[in-house]
Amino acid sequence: AKERGKNNYQFYDAQLMGVSTRKMQLEHAMRRAMQQEQFTLQYQPQVELGKGELVGIEALLRWHHPELGYISPMEFIPLAEETGLIVPLGRWVLEQACRQNKAWQDAGYRAVPIAVNVSVRQMKEEDFVAMVQEVLQQTGLEACYLELEITESIMQKKERSAGILNQLRKAGIRLSIDDFGTGYSSLSILKYLPVDTIKIDKSFIDDIADPGDQGVMVKTMIDMGMNLKFRVIAEGIELQGQADFLLRHGCRIGQGYLYSRPLTARELELYMQK
Ligand code: C2E
Ligand code: CA
Ligand code: CA
Ligand code: CA
Repeated sequence: AKERGKNNYQFYDAQLMGVSTRKMQLEHAMRRAMQQEQFTLQYQPQVELGKGELVGIEALLRWHHPELGYISPMEFIPLAEETGLIVPLGRWVLEQACRQNKAWQDAGYRAVPIAVNVSVRQMKEEDFVAMVQEVLQQTGLEACYLELEITESIMQKKERSAGILNQLRKAGIRLSIDDFGTGYSSLSILKYLPVDTIKIDKSFIDDIADPGDQGVMVKTMIDMGMNLKFRVIAEGIELQGQADFLLRHGCRIGQGYLYSRPLTARELELYMQK
């Protein structure tokens, strides 16, 4: 028994090593990636579910490393948050997204807001609001064409967060709660958060497609959102049946592979032309 215990321990240890080596490797690589311009943005259309008309764009970060290949944001964003690298990286994303949206407007494409994901870690920075305003000024994008997507976890510090969100909103920036329904305080949170929009998380949209699932959660979130006068967006729509269900229950805006995958800037231009 003692023997086996020891082996297990070694096995566990080796696994841990594997994980932490990968982490260290990525952490190191991420620091260089910014200078070497390995990060790019992709853009996913947000559409009016009935007509398919473009009403917004979500900017999504992409990292392609020359040796390690494509690395998912699901893997590197948490690491960037842990190390604090998300602060400069997040600023880069914001600049890039605002500059691109302004360029599209100047080129004559229809003006729509660009949604940028923001980590709680970024908002903890003293100068977050000033930073955002500086980026708007530098890029020349009007505040109403920027939307910040934040998660419910922001409410861990209720007073300070509400203060920051109020400042952003006063500046004319739009705010949405991302991954809505996956946090711990979903219902009561809406009373405190000065936001315009809630984004129903993909996991709930997936449920609609399950046979036997009545989409109760989604219906409840749409109802509640509408009663509280929020814009309600659904994310991760892959099937026409999901879009039909959402429309039937009053959700009119969404994004997902059914309409378009995230696109490069050039691809989105082609998408906007059609
Ligand atoms: P999210 O904000 O919930 O973004 C939606 C994710 O779902 C994106 O994954 C998008 O590509 C994917 N998606 C959209 N429609 C569909 C669909 O119909 N089917 C499926 N299967 N997937 C769909 P992505 O780009 O891999 O991003 C993952 C997460 O990484 C994001 O989830 C967001 O939390 C985070 N992230 C991405 N870019 C940034 C960023 O610039 N800053 C921060 N802080 N987080 C980011
Ligand atoms: Ca998002
Ligand atoms: Ca999500
Ligand atoms: Ca998210």
